Amino acid sequence: MLQFPSNRSNFLKKILVTGGAGFLGSHLCESLLTANYEVICVDNLSTGRIENIKHLLDLSNFIFRRHDVRTPLNVKVDAIFNFASPASPPAYQADPIGTLFTNVVGARNLLELARRRDAVIVQASTSEVYGDPLVSPQREDYFGNVSTIGPRACYDEGKRCAETLFFDYHRLYGLKIKVARIFNTYGPRMRPDDGRVISNFIVQALRNEPITIYGSGLQTRSFCYVDNLIGGFRKFLDTSDAVTGPINLGNPTELTVIDLAERIIRLTNSKSPIVHLLPAVDDPQQRRPDVSRAAVQLGWRPYVDVEDGLLSTIAYFDLALRHAAAGN
Ligand code: NAD
Ligand code: UDP
Repeated sequence: MLQFPSNRSNFLKKILVTGGAGFLGSHLCESLLTANYEVICVDNLSTGRIENIKHLLDLSNFIFRRHDVRTPLNVKVDAIFNFASPASPPAYQADPIGTLFTNVVGARNLLELARRRDAVIVQASTSEVYGDPLVSPQREDYFGNVSTIGPRACYDEGKRCAETLFFDYHRLYGLKIKVARIFNTYGPRMRPDDGRVISNFIVQALRNEPITIYGSGLQTRSFCYVDNLIGGFRKFLDTSDAVTGPINLGNPTELTVIDLAERIIRLTNSKSPIVHLLPAVDDPQQRRPDVSRAAVQLGWRPYVDVEDGLLSTIAYFDLALRHAAAGN
């Protein structure tokens, strides 16, 4: 029951995906190519990998450009998906000022490009805009509880500022914007050394190494499978200009980190023990999306059961680790 459809996809041809060699970006490029769009993938390969897009490089409707979004770029495009930003806490905290500038200056550069080209622009925002939320589930009208000075602020505040820029460009220049707030998403093509919880736990379990829980493990997250999430972005692009978001995209099934560890140990048949390490600083204690806006405005719903998603992610990592061990 899509309530705000448009015929946009009939008119769009060229789509720019920034961060397109990353985990989510590469799945998005693939999905757009399958629908016969021309895709320009831009990435500085800081956390992304050519390996993620190597099967696309020879396609005639795919172009890869190594470029940093902190520097302006000029390409002919009808639509932009802005996915360029490190997303894993260890990665975004390794270069905090770079992270902040990627999110703020990068967003501004792409908004300017969208303005010049009269292109629709879609932002990969995050549930981190809610910080350590005091309400649950989180609806889009919750303003959040975010530290401006902690080690996560470079990412959280960068994404919040990017949302502000998007809505100011919309109000000032009538730019066609769409802001999606992504909740923890997982699946094939995450890096084994990415540092996020699902990749860490699966790799540890497959190697029968200790599963590292930060703190008590009673903190919660809600995990969405990648294909399901990308479907939401595709639907968002197809909405009319009136649909700007922000719209939460995520799976409301909420798990404690301990529960996640136990499931992964069971699904991998692992001998890994669980160890508790120091808690991460400013770690949000709960996170669960309210996805009713996505249901009404996009006709989207999370449909992948977490154990099914974990099984296909485990199969991916199992193969990736075997290839790495064989030196391929
Ligand atoms: P990722 O690290 O795999 O992908 C990010 C990509 O952006 C990488 O390919 C990286 O090389 C590229 N990049 C980083 N800085 C850049 C710059 N300055 N210029 C050009 N390219 C740059 O992470 P991901 O999980 O695929 O996340 C993609 C986007 O989705 C990010 O914007 C992230 O904030 C957002 N997001 C992801 C999740 C999630 O759970 N995966 C949740 C919320 C938001
Ligand atoms: N986490 C953990 N062990 C790990 C990696 C992460 O216990 O090896 C915890 C982390 O402290 C947080 C949750 O898992 O509570 C999700 O962490 P992740 O880095 O995946 O994402 P984010 O904190 O950005 O939601």
